[in-house]
Amino acid sequence: MARILDGVAIAAEIKQEVAQQVKAMAARGLRPGLAAVLVGNVPASQIYVRSKVRSCEELGIYSDLITPPETVSTDEMLKLVDELNGRDEIDGILIQLPLPSQVDVKALLDAVAPAKDVDGFHPVNAGRLQAGRPALAPCTPAGVIEILKRSGIAMAGANAVVVGRSDIVGKPAAMLLLHQNATVTICHSKTRDLAAVTRQADILVAAIGRPGFITPDMVKPGATVIDVGINRIADRAQFDRFFRGNEKREAAFAKHGSVIVGDVHPAAFQVAGAYTPVPGGVGRLTIAMLMANTVQAARMRRGL
Ligand code: NAP
Repeated sequence: MARILDGVAIAAEIKQEVAQQVKAMAARGLRPGLAAVLVGNVPASQIYVRSKVRSCEELGIYSDLITPPETVSTDEMLKLVDELNGRDEIDGILIQLPLPSQVDVKALLDAVAPAKDVDGFHPVNAGRLQAGRPALAPCTPAGVIEILKRSGIAMAGANAVVVGRSDIVGKPAAMLLLHQNATVTICHSKTRDLAAVTRQADILVAAIGRPGFITPDMVKPGATVIDVGINRIADRAQFDRFFRGNEKREAAFAKHGSVIVGDVHPAAFQVAGAYTPVPGGVGRLTIAMLMANTVQAARMRRGL
């Protein structure tokens, strides 16, 4: 029976530590602050940002929710970021993606002061991460490392295969695993005989964006499988492919008309030695790491 790596419990542990750090700062008259910028009315973005703001409140972090209209221009957004860069009570700036098509996302993310870039998307932080210098690392990959560390999964010397090479997940996850002394392979859509590569993995990280893409034949028996994927499926045939006969999922599907599945087929978890479930795995770490990054940014900016 594969071991479940419980993202909910690990996220709670990290949040508790962050709350302690916030308390220690409060004793010195300091309070970390996060500005969350939410443009327009994308329902999923609204849910994400709301839970980020709620987490700030829980942990004693100051938060400022800014909601420009859907029609906002790149210039207006750049002005807003410039203003947030200059506000002393703001340590972290979070711009919830996606943004409307008229906004130049790259220009905007590059305009965030690297010291306040709590999403870790700025090229300066990407470069610092690569160079092994103190950096604000992207939250989701940082969460992957925390899960592995806190679950006692040995990374040094392990064969780690990351499927996906995006700037926000795959590449930084690979870099962080390398810093933990794993032997890292990065795969993508042009990788030849992907299954032969993934079967070599002691630690397999799936960050692809395709429901149930990693099948049992792609997993080495006993491997640790980290499923970063979050895919909503509403199609009955697709549901049956993954969850037929699973009473809990059937009930969720009947209630909501859709369920979440990762990038790993649930049957593949049975081959693994340990795995992160979806939901309840990596996704739970992302907000916890955002909180940790906000406190880290606050401490670094104040020279603590
Ligand atoms: P992305 O930018 O779309 O990148 C997907 C990567 O998968 C690309 O590098 C792509 O390769 C690769 N890929 C696509 N099809 C492939 C195939 N057939 N074989 C091998 N590789 C393939 O996605 P992302 O932003 O990294 O997100 C990945 C997943 O993580 C998504 O499910 C997303 O929802 C989830 N996610 C979760 C969190 C969280 O909080 N847990 C946060 C962010 C993202 P190419 O580069 O060659 O195109």
